[in-house]
Amino acid sequence: MDIDFTADERVFREDVRAFLRDHLPTEFAERISQGKRLSKEHQVQWMRTLNRRGWLAPGWPVEFGGTGWSDVQKHIFDEECFAAGAPKVVSFGLKMVAPVIIKFGTAQQKARFLPRILSCDDWWCQGYSEPGAGSDLSSLKTRAVREDDHYVVNGQKTWTTLAHYADWMFCLVRTDPEARQQRGISFLLLDMKTPGITVRPIITLDGEHEVNEVFFDNVRVPVANLVGEENQGWTCAKYLLTHERTSIGGIAHNKALLNRLKHIASEERRDGRSLIDDPLFRAQIAEVEMQLMAAEMSSLRTLAAVRDGGVPGAESSFLKIKGTEIRQAITWLISKAVGPYAMPFIQDELDYGSEPLLYTDYSSAATYQYLDARKASIYGGANEIQKNIIAKMILEL
Ligand SMILES: Cc1cc2nc3c(=O)[nH]c(=O)nc-3n(C[C@H](O)[C@H](O)[C@H](O)COP(=O)(O)OP(=O)(O)OC[C@H]3O[C@@H](n4cnc5c(N)ncnc54)[C@H](O)[C@@H]3O)c2cc1C
Repeated sequence: MDIDFTADERVFREDVRAFLRDHLPTEFAERISQGKRLSKEHQVQWMRTLNRRGWLAPGWPVEFGGTGWSDVQKHIFDEECFAAGAPKVVSFGLKMVAPVIIKFGTAQQKARFLPRILSCDDWWCQGYSEPGAGSDLSSLKTRAVREDDHYVVNGQKTWTTLAHYADWMFCLVRTDPEARQQRGISFLLLDMKTPGITVRPIITLDGEHEVNEVFFDNVRVPVANLVGEENQGWTCAKYLLTHERTSIGGIAHNKALLNRLKHIASEERRDGRSLIDDPLFRAQIAEVEMQLMAAEMSSLRTLAAVRDGGVPGAESSFLKIKGTEIRQAITWLISKAVGPYAMPFIQDELDYGSEPLLYTDYSSAATYQYLDARKASIYGGANEIQKNIIAKMILEL
């Protein structure tokens, strides 16, 4: 993007670069540039490194451990982290439940949960979707019945990302079955070690275990773990989803992917030519780059509006659609650039690597990244639903 950064912002960028140079383990950056997996331990190690520097939660208010950065600084930080090949921070605790606790939680909930999110002692998962309640989330059926100072929870969640690692789940439950759909829902924080919880893996098209089914059988949750008021959980749920969608847009991630695509396309082939010399392929890269630049401008405009006290609305939906479409377009072009070398998709290579087949070791990750990007237009609310939201919020008379 063509933006005039101030002298202070340029100094800030240098600070971030220096920090990443000194503290980002080369092994992590290499694994990421080669499209290999990182373990939970790798991710925790990196998040703790950021936390020690006070840089783990740029989106939080300073009083809770935020950085106090401007939106431009946050943008610069994201860009530099992705460009250096730093691991993405896991968002369920930091970017999803924390903003809800900060806005709607009690003082005790803030004191109990926020420090442990920062220290990475608690790993969170999101219990929204159910069989039959995905796009139509407000028809969820997981039931919580109050018994004295506890809720007793019964039901099932599905597609729960990283539930097999999670210490806690933030969860939508039905507390009033008589009320109109969205009114009878509450937002509960649930300790995953509570008796009665079963986590069962779902293996996705790319062969990965990332998502799960979670079953609740008479799970007792203290009333102290209710966020906001009983039956008002939909307000928390919506607040969280707009934040989730804005971050799924992933501008910095897409920029790093685009650079990888250009790098692969610029490599010299056996005949001495590069794919980037092909005007048709170059035009496809240019097209996706233009889309990305436009999305980046919109993203900065949204961040500026949030800074001035606004809440992202239809913009989150727009950014989610564009961001995920761009990611899918780039991963498709990477697969095309790598050509037949993308085909031997061997799971173990994502952990251990192999002799480079072509250009960089990245060729073996191309198919995985392509498949992985397909799901981005489904989670966080499918893109078709985002179009409905845009139609309602902007086009409805
Ligand atoms: C990889 C992955 C990770 C996920 N992680 C989590 C998680 O951690 N926690 C969690 O709670 N959920 C998670 N989800 C669930 C995700 O939010 C839902 O899959 C999503 O909301 C869609 O719901 P569904 O799968 O029930 O599809 P459905 O709602 O059945 O939709 C099926 C299709 O119909 C379309 N459709 C449905 N209704 C309409 C309509 N009114 N207008 C136009 N088109 C429509 C949809 O766009 C979609 O293409 C995850 C999903 C995936 C794929």
